[in-house]
Amino acid sequence: MENKPWLKHYPPQIPHTLTFEETSLQQLLKNTAEKYPNKIAIHFNGKELSYQELYDSALKFAGYLQKIGIQKGDRVAIMLPNTPQSVISFYGVMMAGGIVVQTNPMYTERELAFQMKDSGAKAIVALDILFPRIKKIQGETELEHIIITVIKDYLPFPKNLVYPFIQKKQYGFSVKVEHKGNDHLFTEIMKHPALQEPIMNINFEEDLAILQYTGGTTGFPKGVMLTHKNLIANTKMCQAWLYKCREGEEIVLGALPFFHVYGMTTVMILSILQASKMVLIPKPDPEVLLKTIQSQRPTMFPGAPTMYIGMLNHPELSKYDLSSIDSCISGSAPLPVEVQEQFERLTGGKLVEGYGLTESSPVTHANLLWDGERVKGSIGLPWPDTLAEIRSVETGEPLPVGEIGELVVKGPQVMKGYWNRPEETQEVLKDGWLHTGDMGYMDEEGYFYIVDRKKDMIIASGYNIYPREIEEVLYEHPAVKEVVVAGVPDPYRGETVKAYIVLKEGTTVTEDELNKFARKNLAAYKVPRKYEFRDELPKTTVGKILRRQLVEEEKRKLNEL
Ligand code: AMP
Repeated sequence: MENKPWLKHYPPQIPHTLTFEETSLQQLLKNTAEKYPNKIAIHFNGKELSYQELYDSALKFAGYLQKIGIQKGDRVAIMLPNTPQSVISFYGVMMAGGIVVQTNPMYTERELAFQMKDSGAKAIVALDILFPRIKKIQGETELEHIIITVIKDYLPFPKNLVYPFIQKKQYGFSVKVEHKGNDHLFTEIMKHPALQEPIMNINFEEDLAILQYTGGTTGFPKGVMLTHKNLIANTKMCQAWLYKCREGEEIVLGALPFFHVYGMTTVMILSILQASKMVLIPKPDPEVLLKTIQSQRPTMFPGAPTMYIGMLNHPELSKYDLSSIDSCISGSAPLPVEVQEQFERLTGGKLVEGYGLTESSPVTHANLLWDGERVKGSIGLPWPDTLAEIRSVETGEPLPVGEIGELVVKGPQVMKGYWNRPEETQEVLKDGWLHTGDMGYMDEEGYFYIVDRKKDMIIASGYNIYPREIEEVLYEHPAVKEVVVAGVPDPYRGETVKAYIVLKEGTTVTEDELNKFARKNLAAYKVPRKYEFRDELPKTTVGKILRRQLVEEEKRKLNEL
């Protein structure tokens, strides 16, 4: 207990260590479908699927994957917003023994091509509107099969009838997929005979469930290898932390994207574990969130600060009844205390801050929701089975209470490593301790605080953005001599992406032209919102650009306003 001062704050309902059987994610779904076949698993735009229907659909998907040659250990990408298809294919891939590669539907061709090549995915499931993008890069990758699905397939009548018109309005065109050869339709797959049994010979400790790509300082994303054990352990921790939540009774708002580890674990896997109903939201803008909470009455709402902030700032907030909300864990960026208090007053539920990263499946810390003290501005206490320390960046030695250093964590949720990157794995995983790259401290009571990031990641509207990746793209513009990208303070988005640029002599380029160039190569959330042209950039004596100095300048300018 001495070096784990946080344990004394645990209420008796939360065990210090958890025991659970060695199983697989597909087995979890099977167990729930057997115990609660008729309970609703998914609510999507008015259409519902029971646990039995979800299980059967996933088995059909798995049967089809086997037919097209997917074998144990093969990678299958899922490029979908939160839809019934994204849940069916997630469990279907595992039932066929495959490894899920989560793919952000906002990826451009360049980003997608990189991820497909790096992961060696053999098949991909995607929405019809993404089909042309995939087709363009398919030749550069090992992708043999594209499975196409349409939002309308899971819309109730008559929404499915009008969907092509909505699509046309939204995207300027309605999509007609000319599929042939190795392109397959999801609807056809759902007519295919199911597997008799999911593949269950899973090595809990060793076998990968997913490859989750995360940005890095090298400019290109790395595939984080998460095993069945990693994900099940983190979900069990989450369940232990939320001990008041009742099996088979909760309704969970599925607003966090499932292609990011946070939504995947705390909504998609946790719901299956405790037989909750998931209400899926493909595009979580504030109005949709408010309307859905009022109509579907969810009890749990894991989210990111921008979601809560967006709702609180909605002009017609007072019109909505949000009283169903009981418990929310906010993660991925700091949660402003003001937001937490306002949201709790409004809903009557609990909203607490947590912390984690892709490499730890993701959660390692959170504040207590009930029966104990929660400390505002703190990321809370390490979860059961999780060790945490603050270490000196220079010496690697543990630091005393109150001193700022790098947060390192250890536990069953910590990744196996980066896919095909042993050197980068060694840099962050040492003796089982994950070096988070986040700077913080622990107080005497065992509460942890994050103060800064060792790495240069930008968090804008809850999205993690790595400057190096954007710099790489801008460097490709013929007029750009030097560029540095930084996250500058922004009252709504938390941080926003700003590019500082030095042009080559004799060249000119406008902000607009650069923006178009960036947009072609980067997902919209990564594209700089601000540009500044300079004659030179501040540098150290060894020529390292002083990114932090630029951020400090920006902060000073804001303070002077
Ligand atoms: P990701 O791998 O995309 O989940 O991003 C993980 C990173 O998000 C962490 O390394 C932190 O830098 C940041 N992060 C997550 N939760 C918090 C929090 N509560 N406060 C501050 N930063 C956070």
